Amino acid sequence: MAKCSYCGASESMPFTCKFCGSKFCAEHRLPENHACPGLVVYKESRGKEPEKWIYEPFKAEYKHLAGRAPEKGGIGERLRDLLTGMDARRLLYLLVAVILLSVLLRTLGVL
Ligand SMILES: [Zn+2]
Ligand SMILES: [Zn+2]
Repeated sequence: MAKCSYCGASESMPFTCKFCGSKFCAEHRLPENHACPGLVVYKESRGKEPEKWIYEPFKAEYKHLAGRAPEKGGIGERLRDLLTGMDARRLLYLLVAVILLSVLLRTLGVL
């Protein structure tokens, strides 16, 4: 005679859980019915695989954006690429330099 590890009921033919190895009555033999600690580990170990599959493509896409591979043209795409790729301070310096140069050239009467 064995006792169910979950409810304590005496069981002449106990079921052994294949996940946690404990013995259970017919009612609690399923992992879902005895809050099986082995099932949690099993699910976690299985959960790692799909996670990899889900995030791997995103990583690849991120690398592609970070590397700023040449895109298929289009002034909007190129502008967005420039704005996102270049840091704001450098862009500001460039803008100021262009304005100063144009002002300087205008005062000199070149333009
Ligand atoms: Zn039981
Ligand atoms: Zn179990």
